[in-house]
Amino acid sequence: MQHAILLLSYLIGSVTFIIGLKMLSHPDSARKGNLVAAAGMTIAIAATIFLYKDGDTGEGLHNYGWIFGGLIIGSIVGTLAAKKVQMTAMPEMVSLFNGMGGACAMLISIIEFKHHTIGNVEFYEEAGTSIYSTLPGTLFVTIILGMVIGSVSFAGSIIAWGKLNGKIKDFSFNGQHIMNILLMGIIAALTVYMVAVKPDNTPMLFYGTLVLALIYGVMFVLPIGGADMPVVISLLNSFTGVAAAFGGFLYDNPVMLTGGILVGSAGTILTILMCKAMNRSLKNVLIGSFGGNKAGGATGSKEQGNYKEISLNDTAVLMAYAQKVMIIPGYGLAVAQAQHICHELEKQLQEKGVEVSYGIHPVAGRMPGHMNVLLAEADVPYEKLLEMEDANDQMGSTNVVLILGANDVVNPAAKEDPSSPIYGMPILEVEKAEHVIVNKRSMKPGYAGIENELFFKPKTSMLFGDAKKVLQDLVAELKNV
Ligand code: NDP
Repeated sequence: MQHAILLLSYLIGSVTFIIGLKMLSHPDSARKGNLVAAAGMTIAIAATIFLYKDGDTGEGLHNYGWIFGGLIIGSIVGTLAAKKVQMTAMPEMVSLFNGMGGACAMLISIIEFKHHTIGNVEFYEEAGTSIYSTLPGTLFVTIILGMVIGSVSFAGSIIAWGKLNGKIKDFSFNGQHIMNILLMGIIAALTVYMVAVKPDNTPMLFYGTLVLALIYGVMFVLPIGGADMPVVISLLNSFTGVAAAFGGFLYDNPVMLTGGILVGSAGTILTILMCKAMNRSLKNVLIGSFGGNKAGGATGSKEQGNYKEISLNDTAVLMAYAQKVMIIPGYGLAVAQAQHICHELEKQLQEKGVEVSYGIHPVAGRMPGHMNVLLAEADVPYEKLLEMEDANDQMGSTNVVLILGANDVVNPAAKEDPSSPIYGMPILEVEKAEHVIVNKRSMKPGYAGIENELFFKPKTSMLFGDAKKVLQDLVAELKNV
């Protein structure tokens, strides 16, 4: 009976994950979706703690002190971190939490390796065999894969966290790609050797592989720069899911398996979409051979010419008399927390008969879907958000494009300059519109660290200032137009 209730709890947990994931795909239901999945997870954890019984011994869990200690400390740290985090630091936190998932999978594998080998020493002695020789192959492969993928995800996510908050700079050296391929090759060879031969020095090889996987995680994320971080972030996310799924296999735990597979497959789909959006190949991501600040490019050494500024009043007049205005949000809009006032501007323009839409670049901001989340928070109707292809189709018939704190995603170097680190990335082709107004605080570059020739084009006018302040003033100005 107890076992049946446990299985039912797992089923409920799995179903809530699927429903929650589905609800996450729309901003209106995303918040509730998160809660639904969290409730399912709570049920599954509680059921495991109180209802699980070992199939052979019939014993329940031990170590309640450790379990509840971990649960309480983890819950407090997680709640405080999530409550205190600034919206702009959200991507870093997501990366850090993703890394914790990877670390968890890594630790599970280490513990299970010990459990099935040293922990079973009496069994091996009775059987008169070497401690590793009878370790079942499938079990051992699952342990090693969980450990390798979890370690890569942990180390890579920590580097991504450092890069997103600016503490870690891009770093690469000649031959880094070859070293990464070599590392992957050695890890694969060691895995095959350990599983096939199970030599007496298996622990040494196992922990050696662990260290190599951690080094690989660091090495494959370190050189990635330019505009390619989003692909890596979604890839690391899928790694954590896959590593957790291996944990589910190890413990024969259906809810852990479902959760891991869902995260793994959702992350993989996102990675493929991001690769497409960035015009990159997955193979290049894995060996870390793209991005980074290549020499040259539009990195500021070039004479750029002059830029012209526009006043608030002229901007208000231009927009009020336009038929179609497209707003391009970027990371700066999130920094300024100007989403609510941006929605005000949109409503005001609409009252004046202007058709307003938003052009959303898939990697605008600092995490996949960042702009969608930001604008949903301000209740911007979802139908107003145009995906990049649709936005570009409409650009030719747009009178005014207002760029709010976006930079890399509208940089023409991505199309025109093969030496640029963002070359090949599709961009929002704002130059096709009649007028381009760029709001930012200075002429400083964006995430990729490169200059943007768009700012010096004849069609472009710069509207300097913090996005929130500028939009507040613009809304006031529009009242008089
Ligand atoms: P960018 O980082 O290219 O540019 C943001 C611009 O906003 C800056 O040039 C900055 O200029 C301006 N800005 C900052 N604060 C304010 C403010 N308070 N008011 C007005 N402007 C402000 O952003 P994009 O969104 O265009 O591009 C995203 C970049 O981040 C891409 O390179 C992408 O690859 C990368 N990335 C994306 C991730 C994702 O998943 N989406 C993850 C990791 C990286 P100034 O300082 O002069 O104001």
